[in-house]
Formats: sequence, structure tokens, C-alpha cells
Amino acid sequence: MNPGKLIIFSAPSGAGKSTIVNALLKKRDDLEFSISATSRPPRGNEKNGREYYFLSPEEFRKKIENGELLEWQEVYKDTYYGTLKSEVERITKKGKNVVFDVDVVGGSNIKKMYDGRALAIFIKPPSIEELHKRLVLRGTDSPEKIKERIEKASFEMTYADKFDVVIVNDDLDEAIKETERVINDFLKKTDLE
Ligand code: ADP
Ligand code: 5GP
Repeated sequence: MNPGKLIIFSAPSGAGKSTIVNALLKKRDDLEFSISATSRPPRGNEKNGREYYFLSPEEFRKKIENGELLEWQEVYKDTYYGTLKSEVERITKKGKNVVFDVDVVGGSNIKKMYDGRALAIFIKPPSIEELHKRLVLRGTDSPEKIKERIEKASFEMTYADKFDVVIVNDDLDEAIKETERVINDFLKKTDLE
């Protein structure tokens, strides 16, 4: 059976990664989202088992101890995020391609693990000022959380050159089109190998 390819999305928070990923998932049934585990509480309309598996810090630690995570990071202080091995298995078993929304460190780690089977896409905001504006307009994070995310953004931007493709999300429609184009090229190329 087709083992499925891996498409990794990373970006500073607020760059528009979820918006782009959701637009693609809506359009295409050959792609499926890898639902991560996190120790942060749900935000806005988020539902357990849809955006994330929301776990307590103890439950998260237990999954690490049991070796259930492919990778995990403390992306923000005391807030853990990780990819479940069972998600990758669940999706590839169906012959679908796995879409990851992970932080820049997790993204470059998954890329290293799967190399030729993975395409790593970095979504770049037009500027840090625009990133700040988007986080404020999104209205899901407290001023303290926004500050924490913006402070991390400059560090995250330094990871861009570890990715296969960098897409600047200025005009959203253009960014979605460009993302779909690079994914199609990647899937076509790896199918021929
Ligand atoms: P991320 O998943 O990277 O944290 P989101 O997808 O939640 O980011 O986007 C952050 C906010 O910016 C959302 O309110 C979203 O609607 C908005 N947004 C996304 N792309 C653009 C764009 N190209 N121009 C303006 N606003 C955008
Ligand atoms: P948010 O709290 O905005 O949903 O996500 C915060 C950050 O955690 C984002 O950069 C997101 O990509 C990252 N993230 C989500 N799931 C995972 C995961 O499974 N592993 C890693 N390493 N990062 C993740």
C-alpha cells in the first residue's frame, strides 16, 4: 500500500499556518491532519480530538514515558505539544498523506526522521509587526500570551532555511495557491521515485 507522504507546516504563531492548512484540508481528501497532543487548554471553539488531544500535564508525561510520541517540545513555558505515533500510523494506513502543524524544532526533527518522504514548509509572516497585529485580531490569546509568542518569533524565523520551502503569507489566497502548488509538485515527484 502507498505508505503516505508527510507534509510538515511550521511557522511563528499567528503567521496563518492553521488558516492555510484548514483551507487545504477542506479541498483535498488525500491529505489528513495529524492531531497533536497538548497540555494547553482549548482556545476559542477548539474541540478535543479535532484540533488537539487536550491532556493534563500528567497525562502528557505518561505518554512520553510510554514512548507514544514521535516527537515533543515544550514550545512555551510549561506548555507541551507532541506528535502521537498512533496518528501517523492511523493516517498512513488509509493511504493518505499526513499533514503536521508543529513548531519549528519539531518540524525540522520530523523532516530529519523521514527525509525524502517529507516536505517541510515554513510559513513566513510579512513582518513581526503584522504577526502582532494578526494575533491581536485573532483575539484568542491574552496580552501576556501574545507577548510570549512575539518574543519567540525572531528565534523561530531563524529556522526558515532548514525547511524545503518558505511561503510568505501576505495575500492569503496567493499563499494557499502557492502551498498547493508545492505540495502537488512534491507528491508528483515522490510518486515517480
Ligand atoms: P497560526 O496557525 O500560524 O498561529 P492562524 O492561522 O490562526 O495562525 O492566523 C492568525 C490570524 O491571522 C487569524 O485571525 C487569521 O484569520 C489571520 N490571517 C491568516 N492569514 C492572513 C493573511 N494573509 N492576511 C491577514 N490575516 C491573516
Ligand atoms: P498553538 O498553541 O497556537 O495551537 O500552537 C503553538 C505551537 O505549537 C505552534 O507553533 C504549533 O505548530 C506547535 N505544535 C502543535 N502541535 C505540535 C506538536 O505535535 N509538536 C510540536 N513540536 N509542536 C507542535
